[in-house]
Amino acid sequence: MTPADTIAPGSTIGILGGGQLGRMTAIAAAAMGYKCLILEPQEDCPASQVADHIAGAYEDESVLARFADAVDVVTLEFENVPVESLRFLEARAPVRPGSRALEIAQDRILEKDYLNRAGIGTAPWREVTDLAGLTAAAAEIGLPAVLKTARFGYDGKGQAMLKPDSDLAEAWETLGGVRCILEGFIAFDCEVSVIAARASSGETRCFPVVRNEHRDHILYKTHAPAGVSAETERAAEAVAIAAIEVLDLTGLLAVEMFALPDGGVLVNEVAPRPHNSGHWSIEGCATSQFQQLVRAVCNLPLGSTEILHPSEMTNLLGDEIDAWPEILAEPNAYLHLYGKADAKPGRKMGHVTRLLKS
Ligand code: AMP
Repeated sequence: MTPADTIAPGSTIGILGGGQLGRMTAIAAAAMGYKCLILEPQEDCPASQVADHIAGAYEDESVLARFADAVDVVTLEFENVPVESLRFLEARAPVRPGSRALEIAQDRILEKDYLNRAGIGTAPWREVTDLAGLTAAAAEIGLPAVLKTARFGYDGKGQAMLKPDSDLAEAWETLGGVRCILEGFIAFDCEVSVIAARASSGETRCFPVVRNEHRDHILYKTHAPAGVSAETERAAEAVAIAAIEVLDLTGLLAVEMFALPDGGVLVNEVAPRPHNSGHWSIEGCATSQFQQLVRAVCNLPLGSTEILHPSEMTNLLGDEIDAWPEILAEPNAYLHLYGKADAKPGRKMGHVTRLLKS
């Protein structure tokens, strides 16, 4: 007997967003006997090459209704889907994660407030809505600090580092005068992340703690395992499980954290979906993050997150994918290309996971 809200193999999973995360989710779902339907405005998107696709706007209710009618459960690979669209879908199909968790994760201020209320630590922060507010917040928090737009920031876009001699008015203008968060600058030892999974049964499990290296604010490499102290590992895993539970989220929650010299961690941001820092799990772990997402949203037993191989994942940005012949010639290197036509500088075109000798 399976629980009532189990979505069995043979069913169709609807995915909002058609990028590489959707593509890798659809591949994992297909391996488990599921079909996927992608909703994404872009015609030839990475996920549309491996699954059925509706090319339509997230705001279009006739498109949303057609999508909801064709699927058994809805998940997402992209967090800037309008919350109203998720609410519309929720009236028609199970949506995992749901609109409330998405609403919180879309907004850095709501997110930090929610986490702090649950006792989860972050950098000190203030909401800023005008230049006078920025000046006051900078005086309270102290400089250096990081000014970020509250919404729609990614890969360092919508961010300005403020030093003691920075011109605050110029920084405010650069970010477009929109609602922002000012965060105290954290002198971290390293950046780590944990991906937690939660099924609709309430079962939770997290992937091992990994260490992330960024270049120009974009993830460059992920090292699994992180190679941090057992104390930091325990703190990071506890925070990830606490965060997914407090958000009451079904699916995956990627939690990016700063590891501090004293063994503690502070949350930088969370994402309610698969994450670039989990790509190594396809080859390195007993269950990949994409298979775990399918298990969580279909209410299947969650898979083992045991590390099978210590791994290093490297993103291939822009024309770095031209190195594909050399990568293919390497033993223990697993190349993933996302099917994107245009290798613009900084664009995530693929990744390679190298399995290391343990
Ligand atoms: P985010 O877009 O919030 O993930 O920030 C991108 C990168 O900027 C992070 O991975 C950090 O390397 C750096 N960063 C962001 N916020 C802070 C902070 N409060 N203190 C120190 N570094 C930060």
